[in-house]
Amino acid sequence: MAVQVLIVEDNPTNMKLFVDLLTATGYEAIQARDAETALVLLETLQPNVIIMDIQLPGMSGMECAQHIKGTPHLSHIPIIAVTAFALFGDEARFRAAGCDDYLSKPISVTVLLDMVAQHAGEPEKRNQNFAAV
Ligand code: MN
Repeated sequence: MAVQVLIVEDNPTNMKLFVDLLTATGYEAIQARDAETALVLLETLQPNVIIMDIQLPGMSGMECAQHIKGTPHLSHIPIIAVTAFALFGDEARFRAAGCDDYLSKPISVTVLLDMVAQHAGEPEKRNQNFAAV
């Protein structure tokens, strides 16, 4: 089974970057353009990791993360916050909202893929582990 990453991002250029990178690496990328859509998808979906843009129209990424972490069957899913402006103290706020990690824009490809692999497991390594069992 593919390792699923739910991407919550309203900027089409950033969304395309995330989808292209993750798909090329072997992940299954699921897209939500806003927090409300993400929460609807999460009623039936259990992704391995969530990439959450903080600046979203409507409900913010912070609120969305709080919702997810307050929902028993979703609270275990790692959330990586993505923000254009990481200021001093922001990391503490993201973590308080339930985010497990954060990335600042502009996105570094290496940092992004390392972070997703750390939280979701690398697709190839996961398959090898399954084969070994
Ligand atoms: Mn945004």
